[in-house]
Amino acid sequence: MQNIKNMKLWYPYAQMKTKEENFHVESAKGTKIKIKGGNELIDGVASWWCACHGYSNHELNMAAMEQMEKFSHVMLGGLTHDPAKDLAELLVDITPEGLNHVFFSDSGSVGVEVSLKMAIQYFHNKGYEKKSKFVGLKNAYHGDTFKAMEVGDDPDFHGAFSKVFKDAYHIDPPRRGYDVTETEVEEDIAKLEEVLAEKHDEIAAFIVEPLIQAAGGFNFYSPRYLERAREVCDKYDVLLIFDEVATGFGRTGKLFAVNHTNIVPDIMILGKALTGGYLGHAATVASTKVFEAFYSDDPEHAFMHGPTYMGNPITCAVALKSFEIFKRDNYLERIAKIERYLVERFEEIESDLIDSKRVFGVTGVVEVKDSKDLKGFQKFAYDRGVWLRPFGNYMYTMPPYIVEEDEMGRIVDVMKEWFDQRKN
Ligand SMILES: *Cc1c(COP(=O)(O)O)cnc(C)c1O
Repeated sequence: MQNIKNMKLWYPYAQMKTKEENFHVESAKGTKIKIKGGNELIDGVASWWCACHGYSNHELNMAAMEQMEKFSHVMLGGLTHDPAKDLAELLVDITPEGLNHVFFSDSGSVGVEVSLKMAIQYFHNKGYEKKSKFVGLKNAYHGDTFKAMEVGDDPDFHGAFSKVFKDAYHIDPPRRGYDVTETEVEEDIAKLEEVLAEKHDEIAAFIVEPLIQAAGGFNFYSPRYLERAREVCDKYDVLLIFDEVATGFGRTGKLFAVNHTNIVPDIMILGKALTGGYLGHAATVASTKVFEAFYSDDPEHAFMHGPTYMGNPITCAVALKSFEIFKRDNYLERIAKIERYLVERFEEIESDLIDSKRVFGVTGVVEVKDSKDLKGFQKFAYDRGVWLRPFGNYMYTMPPYIVEEDEMGRIVDVMKEWFDQRKN
């Protein structure tokens, strides 16, 4: 029995009484995580998908250090600096044409909050007071703060709080599959059209994780759905928000998920890999159409938000360096290579316990029929020198992009072996 008073560190998403003991990290370098007095692990999850360059990258370390020597942090109220201005400029450059205004905040969840506040105030400033609700997808995940939880839809996360949510509608998500037929897209988009047709006078925005509903169950879906959603949102004067916190910076095989489509959302949120996995930060990038509704002589039209650490210079310096490496080292080519490898090797993973397998970009998922069949897998992988952490019915890998083929091989081997050992 543990003494409850000794549990000083409260861990995330965990029943503190019954969870297994966390592995204690001593150091981490490249794709490897060294456990104190234990194994060295090949990282198969990039620390919730953010550590795209692996760990303790020398160039990123130096970028942080150099900035710290100049100045570590200053407020962005009344002051400004090169790292924040340069990162804003870079993000405007690399996101689709029309997204021109970058608002920084300290985490993906807050970046989502910022987008929702922007959407409500956009309509407020234009005199449409009633348009203040949202439409999201079932099984969506947009973060753990209140409004982000509300537009998301994950009963595991919401239990105690469901009673405080009343301003979001959730529609059936688009069916799985990148290449679905036009008829199927129309059937799916009809769900959106139905709610907007009836409720558009109270709806500010439709928010989605484009192409991959990640934490909500790895639903990989069609770009065509997003293109049609753009048309339907325009028809009903509803803003379209892309939460690219997970999909941004290469995860889907292109720089952003939006690059698989021919449309531009009104607001796009970046986080996770934005800082190369070093520091919590997010960027909410708004279109000029959105920005214009705030730009006026009326002080009440200003956007009243400003996290203490927004645009932190160390964070911005690291983010700038991170993208420099991403481009210089041809990460999109690496990503394509990892994807091809995953597709090929996933063929070998077979079992009656499996419901389905899928790969998209640098995300490989094995969905089992019964979550009980993954119990013990984390330890199993640990014993074989690999760090993987399944949740629910999903065994998945989203490794750092620097992963070498033999390391990727070890990760897939462990996934395969788990099922092979359960064959009768
Ligand atoms: C992780 C995630 C968030 C939340 O980001 P945090 O930095 O953890 O607050 C929001 N949206 C999506 C799609 C995510 O994957």
